[in-house]
Amino acid sequence: MTINKIIKEVKKSNPGANISLIRHAHRFALSAHKKQKRENGEAYIEHPLNTAFILAQMKMDTPTVTAALLHDVIDDTPHKQKVIKEKFGEEIAFLVKGVTKLGKIKYHGLERQVENLRKIFLAMAKDIRIILIKLADRLHNMKTLDALPKRKQKRIAQETIEIYAPIAYRLGIGRLKGELEDLAFPYIYPKEYDWLIRQVQTKYQEREAYLKRVRLSLKKMLAKEKIIPIDIHSRAKHYYSLWEKLERYNMNFSKVYDLVALRIIVKNPKDCYNTLGIIHKKWKPLPGRIKDYIAAPKPNGYQSLHTTIFCLDGKIIEIQIRTPKMHWEAEYGVAAYWQPRELRKPKLNLIPRDKKLEWVKQLKDWQKNVKKSREFLDSLRLDFFENRIFVSTPKGEVVNLPEGATPVDFAYHIHEELGHRCGGAKVDGQPAPLFQPLQNAQMVEIIVHENAQPSQKWLKFVKTNYAKNKIKDWFKDQKLPSRPQGTYLNSQTTNIEVLATDRIGLIRDVTNVISKEKINIHSINTSEPVNGMAVGLISLQVPNTNHLKNVLKRLKKVKGVWNVKQI
Ligand code: MN
Repeated sequence: MTINKIIKEVKKSNPGANISLIRHAHRFALSAHKKQKRENGEAYIEHPLNTAFILAQMKMDTPTVTAALLHDVIDDTPHKQKVIKEKFGEEIAFLVKGVTKLGKIKYHGLERQVENLRKIFLAMAKDIRIILIKLADRLHNMKTLDALPKRKQKRIAQETIEIYAPIAYRLGIGRLKGELEDLAFPYIYPKEYDWLIRQVQTKYQEREAYLKRVRLSLKKMLAKEKIIPIDIHSRAKHYYSLWEKLERYNMNFSKVYDLVALRIIVKNPKDCYNTLGIIHKKWKPLPGRIKDYIAAPKPNGYQSLHTTIFCLDGKIIEIQIRTPKMHWEAEYGVAAYWQPRELRKPKLNLIPRDKKLEWVKQLKDWQKNVKKSREFLDSLRLDFFENRIFVSTPKGEVVNLPEGATPVDFAYHIHEELGHRCGGAKVDGQPAPLFQPLQNAQMVEIIVHENAQPSQKWLKFVKTNYAKNKIKDWFKDQKLPSRPQGTYLNSQTTNIEVLATDRIGLIRDVTNVISKEKINIHSINTSEPVNGMAVGLISLQVPNTNHLKNVLKRLKKVKGVWNVKQI
């Protein structure tokens, strides 16, 4: 990274920026870090340079970029705050001091975490730019995490996912949140990461090729109605957020409609709604999936229209529609309002900026009123770590679980085998039943029995999908008693409706599933495919409702099937 590259980036958004100030800060940092090396062997100055560049890309103002160049000067070298104040003025000295005070946040158990968060929020309430510099600093550190020893890597990655990424999200800086998480992901869950990458590679490619066709079709459609989109692009979901979503859907890719979403940028909100209408005229929306975040923005300020539609070939895709301003804000959130002061039009920006920073103001008030750290963390967690709890192993490793999670969830979270062999639990040293929901900050120890094995009862109380799936898998692996071959005297006729993408072999696959369950088929009727989607009406002779549920479940897994229901 070079200072000229940074200056070029600054000038893009702010031609009148004070360049000599930036150069001055660069020279100052250069001499301050002269003898220092980073862990990967390169000169230390690379780090502040890269941090400053990230902020320049975010179109931050000159004091922020300058402070970023100086952000480690006090911390890592004998230079004093006073010198910075004399040379660079009050504002920059204040920012540098703020970042320095945040210091090296360490993620060690709950109490440390309370302290860390308190520091962060105090700084945030003072000046949001301090946090933005800290986030950029962390982003660059994550990019160069490889050079650190293994043990440190994991701790820093953990802290990034559990503290910094949620802050970026809360500030509405979607791009930073996604990047931070994706950089941390392989260090924390290496196996899951590898698995996901393997799964996703071809899926992303196929999806891209398909979306290219959709894009063309969309352009024509919109042109007919005299809407010229500024941009239509597709964007692959970030890996970590994809993995989180897959966890919610039992690792079923077909349920993740926004694996690659299509984004349409049009010039104003009116065009957004018009575009939505035009799309719905041609492609039917999935009920319940239209979201108007323009009329009702998310708490972090995010605005956009979302819809999920049956598109070309009957495939389901998600489309997001927004204006360039909404787009910029979705990517850079609160930072979007920190344009160079020289360019800011006070009256124009006052309203959204105040609105956006409402949350920070609330935090400031909170800080005044809340003294006990426990209370502070609890109130934060409501918002931040939505319904998550932190418990620890006897060795002090922190585990983050959803609220209501039980010792069984905990055991599976640590390791699948530990889950299967889980015979009992101790919570804070006391024996506790396996179904007892865990509380924040408890220490959990799993008691392993050689002969222990999962119980069907566990499925009733475990909270995480991960544990649920592992238990179900275990039962699948056991030999189930063969199905009784009773007569179908009491059976009754039932009709089901199958909604599917039409393809050769579909009917064969569907009927195979049904006959494997030893169910008689009375009749099959299929509709003419519309947009590649076909509806099949199947009349069955089903012995009992449980049996039917099974069939419905299996049918949903047939390739191309979107939905199956009893009618
Ligand atoms: Mn740093």
